[in-house]
Amino acid sequence: MAKINIDDSLCTGCGLCASTYPEIFEIGDDNVARVIAKSVSSDAKEVADQCPVSAISIQ
Ligand code: SF4
Repeated sequence: MAKINIDDSLCTGCGLCASTYPEIFEIGDDNVARVIAKSVSSDAKEVADQCPVSAISIQ
């Protein structure tokens, strides 16, 4: 299992991650994505590549 982090200073709130993986991400009231899943399958690694501003990192 992997842990996902979002760099708040980079996220533009585009919503791509939340629409692709709604079980993992949501867009908060501050228009920044946040992780709602405790841990995720390593399959979700591809979402880090899809973020247009590279705000998502996987550990
Ligand atoms: S895809 Fe990236 S920029 Fe867009 S909401 Fe998710 S973390 Fe933020």
